[in-house]
Amino acid sequence: MKVYDGRGTYDLYVCDDCSHQIVTTYAVKGVTPFVIKCRECGGTMKHVATYKKVRPETEVLKWIRPTYSQYLKLSPFTRQHIENGGLILETSIIDD
Ligand SMILES: [Zn+2]
Repeated sequence: MKVYDGRGTYDLYVCDDCSHQIVTTYAVKGVTPFVIKCRECGGTMKHVATYKKVRPETEVLKWIRPTYSQYLKLSPFTRQHIENGGLILETSIIDD
């Protein structure tokens, strides 16, 4: 199976409801969702653009594959996404 390698690229997501923006990049190869939940308002953020580079001061969140103990704390829906080769944002990890 060919796994998409998005390392070295930056994806911009924008919230439909509050216009909050985040920039993400890949820590490892894998599949990322086109739509994610907005942390500010709970609305829907959509992937709108991909960049080769961003300004140095830009906060960049990473798409990661969780460790097994992190995986166990995720929702069944998210676990299924990971089992299908999906990645999650580092901010989705639930730490002790
Ligand atoms: Zn929002």
